[in-house]
Amino acid sequence: MTRSDIIRSLHEEYARMREENLREHDRRMAEVSAKSPRLGEIAEQSRALFMRQARFILARPADVEKMREETLSKAAQLRSEQERLLASLGLSADYLDPVYHCAACRDTGYVGEGVRSMCSCMEKRLIDRMYDSARERGTAEQRFEAFNKDIFPDDELVDGVNTQRKIALRARRMCQQYADDYPETDTLNLLLTGNTGLGKTFLLHCIENRLLDRGFSPICVTAYRLFETMRGTHFSDPEKRSEFTQLTECDILLIDDLGTEPVMQNITREYLFTLLNERMTQRRHTVVATNLGARELMEIYGERVFSRLFDTSNVMPAQLKGRDLRMIAGRSGKKA
Ligand SMILES: [Zn+2]
Repeated sequence: MTRSDIIRSLHEEYARMREENLREHDRRMAEVSAKSPRLGEIAEQSRALFMRQARFILARPADVEKMREETLSKAAQLRSEQERLLASLGLSADYLDPVYHCAACRDTGYVGEGVRSMCSCMEKRLIDRMYDSARERGTAEQRFEAFNKDIFPDDELVDGVNTQRKIALRARRMCQQYADDYPETDTLNLLLTGNTGLGKTFLLHCIENRLLDRGFSPICVTAYRLFETMRGTHFSDPEKRSEFTQLTECDILLIDDLGTEPVMQNITREYLFTLLNERMTQRRHTVVATNLGARELMEIYGERVFSRLFDTSNVMPAQLKGRDLRMIAGRSGKKA
């Protein structure tokens, strides 16, 4: 399940919750009206009161203030009568108020006027589901704590100065620092480079899981999926378009395996630039893992994307070097 699938299912869940709330409210109303018919009348009268005010506002806008005061004072009278009656039945004063699980968002999942943001109740559910999804994808165990330095060869220098292990440990340190410091990272973005089989994807998932542990909700996509989203957006698929917007607007995006996706230059270059540029302009964090070297990235994606990926004032490069861990004899079965 992707993040947008999860959000879609959360929207359905919240809609069901709101329906249940209404049913529960009706049930309470029926329950108390049976015991004290006056409570049913009070509810009816308050409804009528506000309906009348709404009609009045349209018909006589000049007298609205006076009308509003009248309505409020009448409503307050009804309310205290209601509370007295509820108390006499041994019920709390708010027993007939609208029913919500979350007072902040009234079970809509969103808060704020105009620009709405996700309510913490929904954010929490989202993160829980993302853990589930990481478990389903088998990446939940890929965490810094599980990083095993022993699988990296330590017997020869791979860049003339450092062994593969030393380089991997440095990359791990950078990734962990980034995930721990987020959103106050030294640089906005992180670029993980190195050939296949050196542990980039593992480190990317370590970052993802650490961020989840810290209560953030990163989006992690493979370049292949990103490409599908860009292609769909280009051909006006509304679902892909909204997914692309989400990738552009989420607080932290992790892109795995850039360079392994099919390339349709006019689409990839344009949309990847839009994505990276927009995210940078809005100061949103992006982590990219790629098998490609600088020259190949330049060739495939063009100068504009290249300049965003390697913008040294905003990007910290973490490089892995050495031999493909999966090819190293006797070490099979260990995931890097
Ligand atoms: Zn809420």
